[in-house]
Amino acid sequence: MTGPRRPLESRTYDAPRPEPGGAVIETVASEVCGTDVHLHHGQLQGVPYPIIPGHVSCGRVLETGGIVRDVLGAAIVPGQLVTFYDVFGICGSCWHCLVAKAGTRCPHRRVYGITTSADEGLLGGWAERIELLPGVRILPLPSGLEALDFMGGGCGLPTGFHAVERAGVELGDTVVVQGSGPVGLNAAIFAQLRGAARVFVVGAPRGRLEAARRLGVEDVLDLERVPRPEDRVAWVLDRTSGRGADVVVEASGNPAAVVEGLDMVRDAGRYVVVGQYTDAGDATLSPHRHLNRRHVTLLGCWGYEYTHLHRALVMMAKHRDRFRWAELVTRTYSLDEAGTALSEMEHLAVVKAIIQP
Ligand SMILES: [Zn+2]
Ligand SMILES: [Zn+2]
Repeated sequence: MTGPRRPLESRTYDAPRPEPGGAVIETVASEVCGTDVHLHHGQLQGVPYPIIPGHVSCGRVLETGGIVRDVLGAAIVPGQLVTFYDVFGICGSCWHCLVAKAGTRCPHRRVYGITTSADEGLLGGWAERIELLPGVRILPLPSGLEALDFMGGGCGLPTGFHAVERAGVELGDTVVVQGSGPVGLNAAIFAQLRGAARVFVVGAPRGRLEAARRLGVEDVLDLERVPRPEDRVAWVLDRTSGRGADVVVEASGNPAAVVEGLDMVRDAGRYVVVGQYTDAGDATLSPHRHLNRRHVTLLGCWGYEYTHLHRALVMMAKHRDRFRWAELVTRTYSLDEAGTALSEMEHLAVVKAIIQP
């Protein structure tokens, strides 16, 4: 991706060798997500174009630079099917890391396929091989999980996990998820696994809502059929004895959804904003009605830490028969079709789009 709104280019590189403590993997699959669409529109700050997109990926280990271990201490070996924490460079020694304990806000944090330039090497998943730099955390896929199981979750898996954890969903809660993209769908899954009795999804288009139903959601509301926010709020109140949901998770990307979502949450409930990864504009709310009088807890949720990816993967391995993540993959594309994949993702024609180089 050479720059905002420029056509994608195919480039050839020398085959990479791992640095000491690093690894090189042969890409099996990488995702195309909403972030890649935003990258292609130039909506993220400080992106060092040209970049190789694809932040969450998996592949087979070709070579390691000496002995490289996973977090459990086991050596990573050639042939292993692995993924990796796409974030690296979190320093562990700055104010954000040590005092605030907010690793996802560490100023040294970097992300494969987003803040890495193609001039630095194969640091993105839309490539036949990926260089894992020293310090990048490698996670073998648990046995029984295939590449497409994991990629059906993609970056939405740890992001949805983090949002649900941050929301503090409790046993028996009623949860509304705004947005039926991969983050919203994974939030709906993890809300159920965390003990929510009832989960509702508000979103569009139809195909994504059908996916939500297959994932055990009690009911879905189609934004395209119910265009007025007040009708959507009434739909939630109708299903919650007029009180609103215990927890609402915003995973829509639309600033207006935040005001609407605050109207869907009950008094003393919790609201988590995870869908505003790029600045899509402002929203106006009433501090009296939406916050103070409602006695609501309002939380932001930025990125995910290693722990979220690790535990999300454990849960995926355990619950893959109940939640069929692989079925969220609507279509796979070759590298040459990456432009088509981007455009189909932009128009929400797919739930999860995967590049298989
Ligand atoms: Zn730091
Ligand atoms: Zn993503």
